[in-house]
Amino acid sequence: MGDVSRPLILVSNDDGIRAPGLRVLAEVAAEFGEVLVCAPNEERSGFSHAISLRSSLRSERAPEFGERWYAVSGTPVDCVYLACLHLCERLPDLVLSGVNPGYNLGADVFYSGTVGAAREGLLRGSSSLAVSVQADAKPEVALPFVRQLVPRLLAEAKAGTRHLLNLNVPREGGTKGLRAARLGHRRYRDQVAEREDLAGRSYFWIGGPPAPISGDPDDESDTGLVGQGYAALTPLEIDITAPDLGDWAAWISSSSDPSAPQD
Ligand code: MN
Repeated sequence: MGDVSRPLILVSNDDGIRAPGLRVLAEVAAEFGEVLVCAPNEERSGFSHAISLRSSLRSERAPEFGERWYAVSGTPVDCVYLACLHLCERLPDLVLSGVNPGYNLGADVFYSGTVGAAREGLLRGSSSLAVSVQADAKPEVALPFVRQLVPRLLAEAKAGTRHLLNLNVPREGGTKGLRAARLGHRRYRDQVAEREDLAGRSYFWIGGPPAPISGDPDDESDTGLVGQGYAALTPLEIDITAPDLGDWAAWISSSSDPSAPQD
């Protein structure tokens, strides 16, 4: 069941067990530890942090890809949950998610199954790294940065410090280097397309393509940095509460009290 003296690295994604980016990430993970791969049996991009509570899950070995590869009939989060609590003989030291073909920048982190799987890793107690590259880029362009980050994450996890990191790498491989970034503003050409089925009933496609990312040199957010050709590393936290709770206490006390007697 693997060498317990080496770190255990769980690899997952939202693009499914056959995705090229998953194999690339599993191969680089094997340079640093024992690897278990658990990924959705089909593509489940955009599944965010969805968990299957009202349907069962099937997990099947996928020996055509590797010895400890499992394909699960669920969401990315289902895969990490099942792997951490059942398939892995111990809690993974690190969860890697990706490599996703397409950036996960700004508010994408709320929709992304790639980030969802990584976030679930942190919730389960493991440091986690989500890895995405520019659409149409080879997943390999992210590998220099993954090789830079993984040993550091493993060393810090061993000392009890865990992180959730979101890495985005441009097509050129972030030749300018890696920069820390806040979430920026990802823009899409939002649209709803209404169609008609054979019975004459309406159905819809939602979600237009992303708008081009500008390379504004003053924009140091993740969107701005990848637009300038940097790779961007965004540290994420679970707690998304607004920073100043005091403002909200004042906001409540200055609002009318619904329990006060009405005239
Ligand atoms: Mn995806």
